[in-house]
This record gives sequence, C-alpha cells and structure tokens, in this order.
Amino acid sequence: MEMTEKVQHRVVVIGAGFAGRYAARALRGADAHVTVLNATNHHVFAPLVYQVATGVLSPGEVATPVRELFRRQDNAEVLLGWATDVDVEGRVVTAIAPGGLPYQLPYDTLVVAAGAAQSYFGNDGFAEHAPGLKTLDDAVELRARIFSAFEMAELETDPAAVQRWLTFVIVGAGPTGVELAGQIAEIAHRTLPGEYRRIDPAGARIVLLDAADRVLPAYRPRSSAKAEKRLRKLGVEVHVGAKVVDVDATGVVFETGAGTRRLEALTKVWSAGVAAPSLAGRIAAATGAETDRAGRIKVEPDLTVAGHPEIFVVGDLMSRDGLPGVAQVAIQGGGYVGRTVKRRLAGRQAGRPFRYLDKGTMAVVSRFSAVADLPGGLRLSGLAGWLLWLLVHWAYLPKGRNRVGSLARWTVAFLGRRRPERAVTSHQALSRTAPRASAEPDHEPALR
Ligand SMILES: Cc1cc2nc3c(=O)[nH]c(=O)nc-3n(C[C@H](O)[C@H](O)[C@H](O)COP(=O)(O)OP(=O)(O)OC[C@H]3O[C@@H](n4cnc5c(N)ncnc54)[C@H](O)[C@@H]3O)c2cc1C
Repeated sequence: MEMTEKVQHRVVVIGAGFAGRYAARALRGADAHVTVLNATNHHVFAPLVYQVATGVLSPGEVATPVRELFRRQDNAEVLLGWATDVDVEGRVVTAIAPGGLPYQLPYDTLVVAAGAAQSYFGNDGFAEHAPGLKTLDDAVELRARIFSAFEMAELETDPAAVQRWLTFVIVGAGPTGVELAGQIAEIAHRTLPGEYRRIDPAGARIVLLDAADRVLPAYRPRSSAKAEKRLRKLGVEVHVGAKVVDVDATGVVFETGAGTRRLEALTKVWSAGVAAPSLAGRIAAATGAETDRAGRIKVEPDLTVAGHPEIFVVGDLMSRDGLPGVAQVAIQGGGYVGRTVKRRLAGRQAGRPFRYLDKGTMAVVSRFSAVADLPGGLRLSGLAGWLLWLLVHWAYLPKGRNRVGSLARWTVAFLGRRRPERAVTSHQALSRTAPRASAEPDHEPALR
C-alpha cells in the first residue's frame, strides 16, 4: 500500500507589527503552518511609544512578547530573526538570528509586513545626532537623552552650556513630533520643577520645526490650528516653513523665508519622513515590482505583488492608493491578507479587493488635550478629543497586563505630576557624556 504524506501549506509572515500580527491571527484554524518571523521578541504598540520616551509608560506596557500573542494559535510558530533576503524563484526567506546565525525559511505564501524606517531625506548622517522614534530601543534611548539633559544642565556653570542642555529640538510636526513636544513641555513645566536646586527646568526651550506650512499637515486645517495654539500655550516654540539643513552634535541649522538660523541644542529628535527598509528594495528588484518615492512596494488591489500572487505586502511597507502609514491600514490590511490566504486554502474564490475603512486619526497635544479628525467631517479637540484618544488606545492595547498597567500610569501622570518611568541606566548615563565631550573639547563639564 502506498502512503502519501500531506504537505502542509507554509505561510511565512515577516514582521509582527500590526500588519503581521493581524495577518497571522486571521490564519488561526487554517490548514497551514504559519511562521511569524520578527526582528525582536516583542510586538510594539507604536502609537504609545512616545510615552515610553517621556517617562509615562514602561517599555513592557507598550511591548508584548510575540510568543505570548500566538500562544493559543496551534498552527503558528514564532521565530526571532531579521529577514535579510527573499529568493523569489526558490521561495525561501533568508534570516539571521541575533549573533549572526543564518537560517532559511521555505514558504508557499509570503506576507511581507516589515514596516517602514525613518527617512532623513538623504542626510543619513543626521541620525547620529537626531535619532528617530520608531522602535522600543529608540524610545528607551530618547528617554535617557531627555532626562539626562536636565541632569547635565544641573552640573554646568556656564549659562550658555546650561541653555544648550535645556534646549530640545524636534524635527517634524506630524503626530509623533507634536506629541513629543507637548510631553517634553509638560516634563519641564509640570514634572521636574522643585526637584532641581541649580537650574529651573521650566526654563527649558522646546522647539518644533517643520518644513510644511502648519503642524499636523495631514490633518484638517482647523485641527492643525488648534494643536498649534495649544502647543504655544504649553510654551513650545513652533517654527513652520522651517527646513532643517544641518544637524550636528551641538545644534541644528534651519532655513525659513527670513534666512538661515542655527539653534544650539544638545537634544534633537527626528520625526520627519519614512523610508522603506532595504528588504523592500531587494524584493522589488527580484519581483520587478514598482516602488514609490519612499521605496514602498506598490501592490495590486488584493495586496499582492504584481505577477506574484504568492507574495503579499501589507502595512507601512505597501504603497496603495495613497493610503497613509497608520495603524488602521496595517490592522485592516493584515486581517484582509490572512482571510484571503485562508480563503484560497479552502479552495474558495478570490474575495473582493482590499478596501480601507477610514476610522479617523488623532494626536495628543498634552494631557487632557488632543485633536481628532473623524470620518464624515467630524472633528474633536481639547478634552473631548483626549477622552476619545484614551478610549481608543486603551481598547486597542493587548489585553491583560498592558491595559491594567497603562491605566494606572496614566492616572499617575495625567492627574498628578509624576512620570513614573525615568530610569536612565548607568551605561546610558556614561554614553551621554561622550558625544558632548568630543564636540566641545574646550569645555568640560564643571562640578561646583
Ligand atoms: C512613534 C510612532 C507613533 C505612531 N502613532 C500612530 C498613531 O497615533 N496612530 C496611528 O494610526 N498610527 C501611528 N503610527 C503608525 C503605525 O504605528 C504604523 O502605521 C503601524 O505600526 C504599521 O504597522 P506595520 O505592521 O506595517 O509595521 P510595524 O508596526 O512597524 O511592524 C513592523 C515589524 O516588523 C519587524 N521587522 C522589520 N524589519 C524586519 C526584518 N527585516 N525581519 C524581521 N522582522 C522585521 C519589526 O521588528 C516590527 O515588529 C505611529 C508610528 C510610530 C513609529
């Protein structure tokens, strides 16, 4: 008697962000072996990452172990690794584990959900002095930079050096830039006063720069105006129409209609522009797929790559009909891809093309103040916008620990003045002094 072993369909999902997570989850119960490959051991709730950077939430409240997310999904396995290449003909993903161990993952269906990286618009050298805020690592690093800046200012005797430490520049006035500027202003004005003896933290300058003509350029003009008004009330200096042309260890240079200006600032953050990671370029080259200006892969109406029905690209990495790089596009797109694969495996006909249901967009400016552009021309701002933001973000956080913990932290931070998460490790504290010392060899920190 001849025995034939059934070979299970292999789905490899690159990335366990919103898109990968929802794609893999939709494959629950499917007759397939699903491998979720992620560069870190955690899924990050990116919209709240700025709260880690500003001491409101702990890393664990915005990051959930990927393994925990798929614990109850028997057909899914989770692997730690960085996808470096895809052999489109041979249908194999090459990945490397931390430490450099390479391994290969054969697939029948590939879901590429690797997200987007920061773009410095061709000035990658800026990254050293003005890191972006994309990952949990970025957030923890930025938190160290922000809180260390006040510590370093306290040690200085030269007023110009104090001011350099107490000047924070945020490049990019999209939601992340606005949220960061508002939070740093609240740290300076609400949290830290009373804790320092030599400096006045409230004297900190928080400067928000954007080349566009208004903050939150993707929002409705009235929401932008409300956000800018609130930022100014918090003491944030807002410069729109300001194009940053240079960033170095001790400052930034920007151009406006009125000329070129240099700002002395030791803490800079870059929150402008996205670029597809190099993996996208390799997949595009191998498949002949078109890419947009940011290098994102253009997809068909069913989110596959043209000529490759076995490869889906979803989330921030895909380019489709000008859809924005927001969580809902990734969540809905991921779910759609998972259901499409499940449908195929069940031998059913292809479903309808992907349609994005716009649920609106919102940005927090400060505690009790947010702007929300909702479908149907509805708009909320101030406390009403903030309450909606709170509800939506809390509801989308993974259940359990993240929800309970974040609610407790929000109560402490928003009703009170404290930031519970301000720890800077000794390793981070030591590395803080290095760029400064090399940038200013003639001026060593002075202890009084
Ligand atoms: C700071 C910040 C704030 C934001 N705020 C909002 C907001 O308020 N509202 C909103 O709607 N959207 C917001 N966004 C955008 C939203 O988070 C993204 O649109 C969404 O996360 C995209 O999901 P994704 O799955 O495509 O990518 P991501 O969520 O970025 O996930 C990509 C995943 O792929 C992994 N990965 C990347 N490359 C590889 C590789 N080569 N191999 C293996 N794994 C890899 C990463 O580790 C990550 O887990 C924000 C984004 C950021 C960074």
